[in-house]
This record gives sequence, structure tokens and C-alpha cells, in this order.
Amino acid sequence: MSKSLSETSGRERIGAREPSPPPEPGLYVVATPIGNLRDISLRALDILGGVSRVYAEDTRVARKLLDAYGLKPRLGAYHDYSDESARWEILEAIAAGESVALISDAGTPLVSDPGFKLVRAAIEAGFKVVPIPGACAALAALVASGMATDRFMFLGFLPPKQAGRRAALEEAADIEATLVIYESGPRLADSLADMAGILGDRPAAVARELTKLFEETRRGTLAELAAHYLAAGPPKGEIVVVIGPPLPSEVSDDALDAFLSRHLSSGVKAAASEAARALGVSRKRAYARALSLRDEA
Ligand code: SAM
Repeated sequence: MSKSLSETSGRERIGAREPSPPPEPGLYVVATPIGNLRDISLRALDILGGVSRVYAEDTRVARKLLDAYGLKPRLGAYHDYSDESARWEILEAIAAGESVALISDAGTPLVSDPGFKLVRAAIEAGFKVVPIPGACAALAALVASGMATDRFMFLGFLPPKQAGRRAALEEAADIEATLVIYESGPRLADSLADMAGILGDRPAAVARELTKLFEETRRGTLAELAAHYLAAGPPKGEIVVVIGPPLPSEVSDDALDAFLSRHLSSGVKAAASEAARALGVSRKRAYARALSLRDEA
């Protein structure tokens, strides 16, 4: 006798027990968990269990992940920059009728992870490229941040040195969107201080260890968050910073000019930084006004 809908489990209802047909030849870009091993889709498991080969940035990390699901596929290493030959090997396998999956250590491949060159080469060769969506730290952090989600820009990792980081932030200062940035614990406090100085003291969230035991999302303004991590020391684990869009400025040009004029004796750059910090205007705007004031003087 067949079961009623209420008696069937979720897996049965969505056909998880039905054997899935072997994947067609092509490249499958498969998202894997960013911490919690249960964050993998049934379709991802079908594909990883069904393809003829799986390529990963680090085969030891991949082996652990695949073992957790009882999967033992043929495994190879792939990194966009290390080795051209791995790319050719994959393309030749697909040309010979094989199906190949690409995974990264965690989350969605190609998102601050290897795979872009491979996907582009597979498209150029006319092969099928199939995304198998799933976890991505940037999106997980964004949706829990409380920042506007209608327009967002993913900046990946900022340059590690301060000058490069500041230049990247200057470039992003006028983008009318929420910004999503990958960051490391040791750099977090300095990075947040630069963000506050250059972007203005916007609301932001620091999301840490998402989907893991010590998951935490701390919200505040950039300056508050910078002060917190400066006092608390570098946090452990993996981190995403989400920053709200530019604040509508309530500071008039006249008020900004008056402030800058009082601080210009310490130099254009210093006056602009001080205005950004004290008035919450973008450093780009403050710097432009400070330059004109100096030139007019
Ligand atoms: N491809 C991955 C994705 O889809 O999110 C990102 C890979 S990138 C090399 C690793 C960075 O992602 C970490 O340094 C951190 O900024 C972020 N990240 C990864 N897992 C995370 C987690 N569980 N919680 C917070 N951030 C995470």
C-alpha cells in the first residue's frame, strides 16, 4: 500500500531515493559546506557520487569532505594558477565524454577560490558548464547582516598591505550598495579602522564562523566594531565584513568646509581623514573639498 504524503519523509518526497541518471559530459561546479557538513544539497551528493572525476584545490581537504558523505570518487588537484596541465587534463576528459566536478575547500568554487579560468576554458571549448548551488559565506553573511540586500557588491579579499587596502576602499567609497568583504582575524581591527576612516562610520556587521559551533554576527558602526576588535584582540576563525551603503549625508558643504578650514593646517590628507571620522562623510568627499579649499587659499 502506498504511503500518504504526511507519512513520507522529505527525502522520499523529493525523489532522493530514486537512482539519479549519470551526469552528462560537462563541468559541474559544485558548492560544498562552509562549516556545517549538513549544508550540502542532495543534488550535490548525486553529482559528486555520479561524475567520473572530482577536482579540488586541496585533495586532502576534499578527501575528508567526501569521506564524510561516504563518497570515494577519482580525485585530482586543480588550481587556476599552479598548473596549466591540470586544466588540459580536465578539458580532455570532458572531450572524451566524461563528467567532471569542481569543488573548493569550502563554499562555492570561483568565489575567492579557484575555477574561473577552468570555467572560461570549458565554455570556450563548447562544453556544458553546470552550477550546483549551495553554501557561500558572502551570501550567508549578507542575509544575516541586516544591511540592505537589494544592491550589494562583493569585494572578495582586500589587498593585505595597508596602502593597497586603503586604495581599494577609496575606490569603493562611492558605490551605492552594501559591500561584502572577506577578511582574516589578525587584520580585522586595522581593516575596520581603515573602513571607518575611508567609507565613513556606516552601520556594519562582522560575521564569524558561520554555520559552525561558534557562529557569531556582531553588528555596530564601523568605528564601534573597530574599537571592539582592537580591545578584544584578533578573533579566531573565518570572517566576512558586511558594510551598509553610503549614508545619506546630513553634512552640508558649508559645514564640511568650515570643519576642514579649521583642520587644514595639518595638511589636506589629515584634515580629510579627521572630517571623515568626526562627521561621518566619505573621505573621498572630504578630500575633494579639502583640496579645493587649499587651492582657493
Ligand atoms: N568559496 C568560499 C565561499 O563560497 O564563501 C570562500 C573561500 S575564501 C578562500 C575563504 C574566506 O571565506 C574566509 O577567509 C572567510 O573570509 C570566508 N568564509 C569562509 N567560510 C566562512 C565561515 N564559515 N564563516 C565566515 N566566513 C567564512
